[in-house]
Amino acid sequence: MSDAAASAVAPATAAKAGGSAPAPASAGKLDYLVNQLEDLKAKGLYTNIRTLDSAQGAWLEIEGRRVLNFCSNNYLGLANDPELVQAAKEAMDRYGVGPGAVRTIAGTLRIHKELERRLADFKGVDDTIVLQSGFTANAGAIPALVGPGDAIISDALNHASIIDGVRLAGKADRYVYEHCAMDSLEEQLKAASGKGYRAMLIITDGVFSMDGDIAPLDKIAELAERYGAITMVDDAHGEGVIGRGGRGAVDHFGLHGVFDIEVGTMSKAFGVMGGYVAAKQPIVDWLRQRARPFLFSSALTVPDTAACLKAVDILERSTERVDRLWDNAAYFQDRMRDLGFDLGVTQTPISPVILGDEQLAQAFSRRLFEEGVFGTAIAFPTVPLGRARIRVMISAAHSEADLEVGIAAFVKVGRELGVIG
Ligand code: PMP
Repeated sequence: MSDAAASAVAPATAAKAGGSAPAPASAGKLDYLVNQLEDLKAKGLYTNIRTLDSAQGAWLEIEGRRVLNFCSNNYLGLANDPELVQAAKEAMDRYGVGPGAVRTIAGTLRIHKELERRLADFKGVDDTIVLQSGFTANAGAIPALVGPGDAIISDALNHASIIDGVRLAGKADRYVYEHCAMDSLEEQLKAASGKGYRAMLIITDGVFSMDGDIAPLDKIAELAERYGAITMVDDAHGEGVIGRGGRGAVDHFGLHGVFDIEVGTMSKAFGVMGGYVAAKQPIVDWLRQRARPFLFSSALTVPDTAACLKAVDILERSTERVDRLWDNAAYFQDRMRDLGFDLGVTQTPISPVILGDEQLAQAFSRRLFEEGVFGTAIAFPTVPLGRARIRVMISAAHSEADLEVGIAAFVKVGRELGVIG
């Protein structure tokens, strides 16, 4: 039992042991949570969070051990890049640390404006609005753009932050299409289009983070055009990974000016933190007036903003890191498939090693850690029941020798647990 869970039940237990004072009526009020936590553990669905004593990089120091990092979204190795660290320090010397308050009240730092301009140029769009994270970008943008009298048409496997954004746009009608299935999307568009909505918004992830497949944005754009729908893509795992020099999914499909809205995060390939919406001018202007995380939550901090700016510099300067990421991914995935591992349908450096059973995935992850490899088990509700996996995140920071260390550990544990022959 965790410390928090133990202290939550402590009063009831103490009162019983003493036998004198009756237990307060509130004593058992958190028991339902304690029971739910126990239930998660019994089903192998409880997530243990490791504590790191080093920066995010190809190798980590965890619990006194040096382990290979197969878990982070630090695709380009920028999370501990000295240039980003230096840029953050210099910006703090000038602007301090915190933004003071929300931008509409306390004013906006010049570096926030610079970041928005640089991101717009990088993405090839009219403008961008920077928010605190990719999560808040989705949760803020969707309810600002659609509401009563509108329709949202969403891929069944969209990210949780899209799902929450859709929930927050509660009065808009919702339609869900089967994952990446264009006949299903068209059915939903047909069903919606007769109803006289003010706006119809199609939303999809660009790269699906659990399987690594890419949404067919070209076909989605065609259907959207036919039915007059607005298009929105969450490019969290496409940014810095696909498209020319990592310009993302819209660039990958050559759909500049066609796809209406791109949501990005700077917590993955950019190596920092922060989210943004890149779009046509009226959309960004409207979000500056109405996106609630922009209006009611303080801005990105100074070091985050400066480090993000440096990440844009690095991406614009050369494609070297993106190229290395793809070389590493091809190397790892080819070797793993040859060895008999199931990597599903990935088209990107996301490399899910699908194991199926939740308990098996947990055991696999534990054994990998003992072998010096940090690969977290991902299970329900993040992926469907029976599709548990170790999701290996390949990075440009890995060397070929690093990847070999990881592969050797997978082979050893895979044979031991009967996953491969
Ligand atoms: N969208 C997708 C598809 C993601 O995978 C994530 C991160 N897990 C987010 C949005 C949220 O990004 P952030 O970490 O910047 O909040």
